[in-house]
Parts: sequence; C-alpha cells; structure tokens
Amino acid sequence: MQKTIPIGPGLVLGGDTFVVMAGPCAVETRELLTTVADAVLAAGAAVLRGGAFKPRTSPKSFQGLGEQGLLLLGEASQRTGLPVVTEVMDPRDVDLVARHAGILQVGSRNMQNFPLLREVGRQRKPVLLKRGAAATIDELLHAAEYILQEGNEHVILCERGVRGFDPSTRYLLDLAAVPVLKQRTALPILVDPSHGTGEASLVPPMAKAALAAGADGLLVEVHAAPELALSDGKQALRPAEFAQLMSELRRLLPFFGRRLVRPASSASAPSADGVPGSLPTPLDDEVIAP
Ligand code: PEP
Ligand code: MN
Repeated sequence: MQKTIPIGPGLVLGGDTFVVMAGPCAVETRELLTTVADAVLAAGAAVLRGGAFKPRTSPKSFQGLGEQGLLLLGEASQRTGLPVVTEVMDPRDVDLVARHAGILQVGSRNMQNFPLLREVGRQRKPVLLKRGAAATIDELLHAAEYILQEGNEHVILCERGVRGFDPSTRYLLDLAAVPVLKQRTALPILVDPSHGTGEASLVPPMAKAALAAGADGLLVEVHAAPELALSDGKQALRPAEFAQLMSELRRLLPFFGRRLVRPASSASAPSADGVPGSLPTPLDDEVIAP
C-alpha cells in the first residue's frame, strides 16, 4: 500500500495524485520570485520551489540569499497559497528552514549527510530526499531510513539523475529507478527532469516519461529570464514553456490513472488573468500565457 503524505491544505502526495513542484533554482529577487510563483500557480503547480541556501560546486558561485530568501519564499507562499519546498544544507539551519517552508529538501550532495538526515527526521515537516549523483537505489533507501527512524514518516524520494559517462546530458536521469523504487518502498517518488538533463529542451519529454514510468510528481525549474539566472539557467523552463508542459501533462494524466492536485487555498489566489478563482481545472487543456 503506497504511503500518502499531506503536504499542504487539501494537498496529498501519493496514491492517484500527481504533484508538480516548480519554481526557480534559487531565490534571487522578490520580483523574480513573484513573477515565477504567479506563473507556476496559474499553470497548475501545487508547490513552489526555490533555493535560499544553495549547494554550489564552487564557493565563488552565488550561494543563495539565506534567511532573506526564506522570507521571500514565505511572502510568495502567502500570496499564492502554494506551500514551499526549499533546501536545508546544515543541521543547524533545520529549525529556521522548517519555520518558513512547508517541505524541507535534502539535496543530492547531502543524501548521506547523516547528522542532517537525523535532524530533519526530528522535526515534523515532510522531507524531500534527493538521490545522490553517485548513490545506488539501496543507498537512497538507507538514507530515507535515517529520517524515518527519528520519527518523521513523511519522506518523499526524488530521482534527479546520476553521474553518467556522456556529457550530452548533465546527469543520466534514471527513470527505471521509479518502478524499482515502487517495488521496494511505499514512499512516494518524484522525478526532477531539470537537474536530470541540465537542458531546458529535454525537460518536457523526460517529464512526460516520468509520468509514464509511475512517478508521483515532478520537480521542475522555471525562471522568467533563464539567460540571466544566477544558477542553472540552461535547464530552466520559461513560464510559457512550463504552461505548455502542464497542458500536455493534463491530457496525459488520465491515461495513467492520475489526477493533478493543487492546494485548496490557491483557488482564491491571483490567476494569470488577474481574476481570483479563475484557475484552470484539471480538465482545462488550454495553454495559459504567463
Ligand atoms: C536543486 O534542487 O536546486 C538542487 C541543487 O538539486 P540537486 O541537489 O539535485 O543537485
Ligand atoms: Mn538547480
């Protein structure tokens, strides 16, 4: 029996639902976050993503806005009614991040940071645990156990690609991991086609393939001006591209016995045309302009 995880008002992940989490790689400015949050809400996302603490390969790269970023995420969440998922990198920041976010993300680089896993296991918010780029499926499941063992049952797994040998894609998105995990665990599984491919044009096909493979939802990076992004611009969809993807997913979802969910409270949030409550329904297959 698959586990269902409450992730916001009227919002459940797992079972027959399909949950799309979308937003910029990093919180950069209030303007960017507002634009993207409104756009992903209008297109049908259920959760807003955005990094305030960014794990960057080089210490010279943009590290995120930290607590200021969390405050901006809180504002955007209030504005749209979308719960927020954001990364926590340091066990000392878990309380702080848990005060601002609806879901705590443990990134791929920290999948085996055992003190961090234990710390997110001791608080009650759901945890999105991303597979390490060189981690086996077994290692991912053991990492999840660290969180579960501390008493937090609300763990969401995320396949985001593993290190391959071919530089044609940033990582090798292991979609077979989805049915393998379905056989091995009751925990829900998301797929992140943005980091998994590293290239915006590859995100829509792999997002649809993830649905077909049995994923319970997606984590997708969206940026209003990817060419100006401070991180991961190459893999970010523009709002119109994201809306197009959501429209295609809406058509496909019934074939796979899934329904798109969104928070109940988002119905009164501002929509694409500025009319409260005029959000698209799951059956609405119109492309919504950002
Ligand atoms: C992210 O989601 O922005 C991120 C850094 O992902 P990952 O940990 O999968 O690289
Ligand atoms: Mn990113």
